[in-house]
Amino acid sequence: MSRVKKLIRQEILDLTAYPVPNANGMIKLDAMENPYSWPAVAKEAWTDLLKDLPLNRYPDASAEQLKLGLKDAMGIDDKFDVLLGNGSDEIIQMLAMAVAKPGATILAPEPGFVMYKMIATFCGLNYVGVPLTADFELDETAMLEAVNEHQPELIFLAQPNNPTGNLWDRDVITRIIEASKGLVIMDEAYTAFTDEEHLDLLDEHEHVLVMRTLSKVGLAGLRLGLLIGRSEWLNELEKIRMPYNINMLTQASALFALENYDMLMIQTEQLRVDRVVLMKDLAAIQGVQVFPSEANFILVRVPEGMARNWFEGLKERNILIKCLDGGHPLLKDCLRITVGTTEQNEKLIEALSTIAQSGA
Ligand code: PMP
Repeated sequence: MSRVKKLIRQEILDLTAYPVPNANGMIKLDAMENPYSWPAVAKEAWTDLLKDLPLNRYPDASAEQLKLGLKDAMGIDDKFDVLLGNGSDEIIQMLAMAVAKPGATILAPEPGFVMYKMIATFCGLNYVGVPLTADFELDETAMLEAVNEHQPELIFLAQPNNPTGNLWDRDVITRIIEASKGLVIMDEAYTAFTDEEHLDLLDEHEHVLVMRTLSKVGLAGLRLGLLIGRSEWLNELEKIRMPYNINMLTQASALFALENYDMLMIQTEQLRVDRVVLMKDLAAIQGVQVFPSEANFILVRVPEGMARNWFEGLKERNILIKCLDGGHPLLKDCLRITVGTTEQNEKLIEALSTIAQSGA
């Protein structure tokens, strides 16, 4: 047996690393990024700011100013604390590490965000995925039974959910929270694209935390996620946070972006408008079923056995989306498309219409 196989845990050897395809030169509609860049004046002001940063020094360890900026921009009440992560991925990892002990469990509805399961595996936790219904709603009975049976330390509920794009019923969510003895994390990665918010759950339940990210509103490159909630929880998680996990460039750039938050919100609003148009145009393509979306992406089901062909057909035309067929059984024949610029969406529709007509 090689030393690698002997030393590395079997569950890590069995893993496939998080897949990131090469998107060089392509219209990139695979990763829920904001497709718009900043106006030239904003870019100039930002680069001016970066010039004077003392990169020979460590960044502000507590990033207090940035936390205040986030609270202000997002309307987070002063009575709640904020914990920052290198993307919300790192926050999921901190949460998992905080509760990891033999037999500890993470539970999430499936299909869902893949990192919940991957991080459970990294941290040596059990993972329980509870299937959604065929129309991607929470299966309340199955969820409550699973919560009861496995008594998970952590439950992740993404509102809207990735990759399905929909919001779940608030009453069902409340009943799941009430049934849980562990922590419930409301993952609001896509909150900018919906009117529904969950900060009020923090008041109502002492075992709920809300997680957000700047990735989807136009700052994916900065890697900044945040966890919002009561200080009893966040003080403990702070102990696990790596010193200086939010680098100086990210802190300065995020603060600058928050001071110009309107600019990002205008882009977000445009994406919300274009989402409606894109959903309508997708539905008009022969054989395409469009699922409701409150996020910056749209899940579609294409004619049986065609998902991979359509995905490859788009790739040949320089458009990258995500093919979900072959993953979770509920996502058979499904593709996930990020809302792009108005022009990119038009190109996508044109290409997909051609592919659908050719029967390829
Ligand atoms: N939660 C959900 C539901 C997501 O879809 C994603 C990104 N795809 C994340 C969290 C992680 O976001 P980030 O690490 O970029 O903050």
